[in-house]
Amino acid sequence: MISNELLPICVAGEWRLGGGDVYESLYPANGEPIARLKAASLDDVEEAIQGAQRAFATSGWAQKLPHERAAVLYRVAQLIRDNAEELAQKQRLDNGKPISETRALVASAAGTFQFFAAACETLEESITPSRGAYVTMSVHEPMGVVAAITPWNSPIASEAQKLAPALAAGNAVVVKPAEVTPLMALELARICEQAGVPKGQISVLPGKGSVIGDAITKHPLVKRVSFTGGTGTGKHIAHIAAEKMMPVSLELGGKSATMVLEDADIDHAVAGVLYGIFSSSGESCIAGSRLFVARPIYDEFLTRLAEGANALRVGDPASERTQMGPLITAKHRESVERYVALGVSEGGHIRTGGVRPHGEGRDSGYFYTPTILEGLHNGTRTAQEEIFGPVLVAMPFDDEASLIVQANDSVYALAAGVWSRDFKRAWRIGRAVQAGTVWVNTYKQFSVSTPFGGWRDSGLGREKGREGIFQYMEQKSMYWGT
Ligand code: NAD
Repeated sequence: MISNELLPICVAGEWRLGGGDVYESLYPANGEPIARLKAASLDDVEEAIQGAQRAFATSGWAQKLPHERAAVLYRVAQLIRDNAEELAQKQRLDNGKPISETRALVASAAGTFQFFAAACETLEESITPSRGAYVTMSVHEPMGVVAAITPWNSPIASEAQKLAPALAAGNAVVVKPAEVTPLMALELARICEQAGVPKGQISVLPGKGSVIGDAITKHPLVKRVSFTGGTGTGKHIAHIAAEKMMPVSLELGGKSATMVLEDADIDHAVAGVLYGIFSSSGESCIAGSRLFVARPIYDEFLTRLAEGANALRVGDPASERTQMGPLITAKHRESVERYVALGVSEGGHIRTGGVRPHGEGRDSGYFYTPTILEGLHNGTRTAQEEIFGPVLVAMPFDDEASLIVQANDSVYALAAGVWSRDFKRAWRIGRAVQAGTVWVNTYKQFSVSTPFGGWRDSGLGREKGREGIFQYMEQKSMYWGT
């Protein structure tokens, strides 16, 4: 247990118990509570948003010069680094990822604040070509109160990805973390305050998405929602946004295709495909969960892949050696198990995995073995629906044209991977695949300076990149008579 006390939440700069129900955050590796808190109530939502509007109007944050806001955000990055190990351990307890992964997420959160601090102080506004006796320019203004709604799978990184650009742009931010992983958003808000972000500029409202998230989204003072989560929830938010004429960015689900061509470096591709699907227990929007392998190398590749999957160390997230931790909740593991059973009923067979591992301290946690399903075609539900767990559907392909058709045959279009030594083929396939991100001879690499987002049911808009800051600003054209 991190603390026996009920944890306070942050409402308009005040740290206090939420007005909602008491609930526990459980450690997925053993099902035991690690923190108890009172969720936000609808009154807390109202107070937080009114307070954010007040802070936006009066705290002076929006009026600071960009390099002044940047100085505070650089301090946030430094404070995250100063507290990195403590944050990584808390995030491990909150969502059960192996410590090696939570350390990387904390480092990424620090890098995100640093990047948007730099973006903020180097942003240029443009003078546009004049068509008369005037000077025209285009400038950007902060929006006011914006909301960040985040999922449970990479909390600190998702929250930093929204908070950093929203603050850099001068806004007040209301954060709604996933109910099961509330800790990192609260930690980030404390760090931001410590670094000099004015009180009230950030509120953190843990609680049920259908109540608290919904109320935030519908609130008339909220001028943008940046959402990361499931496609169903994203569509619901998009409907509300349409009514309010509110811009949204939606980072949603995926069922990403990984393609291994016959000339691929096999060692490299096996390692990359394993990492692409089984890191984070497959609980990753960009998990490479549909695998297409050229038929001439299919048998050899699958043998190597199954050996690799069996050799992954699944267990205690606190151990430096662990490669895969538990799933997030008992309920989510049951959903993954139902998908594996569906795969079998659709004519597939389990090449490896498909069970709960026992012993070595894993009996009371929500562990599941890395699983590879074969014998399914791309049209099956198992190959089409997002499982969000350590389950790979492997399929052979015969030629490049059919490969591209199958890779693109999905409602999702978030990411894809191509493994080949032939630069021209990899380029051709990479350009033909419809996806927000394509990795060639690598997978799941991330850079905050590179835009990220999905096509089709995988989302709307882009996060990261220098342009990421403009999501949180409105554009204004100014004409100056001469
Ligand atoms: P989810 O949609 O259930 O929840 C995400 C967030 O939305 C949570 O904070 C939740 O409380 C809130 N929410 C739920 N209902 C809401 C409503 N009616 N109104 C407003 N907010 C609401 O998703 P999840 O199970 O937490 O996360 C898993 C999903 O997230 C997967 O589909 C995964 O692919 C996706 N994801 C996408 C990305 C990306 O960048 N594209 C990254 C990580 C996760």
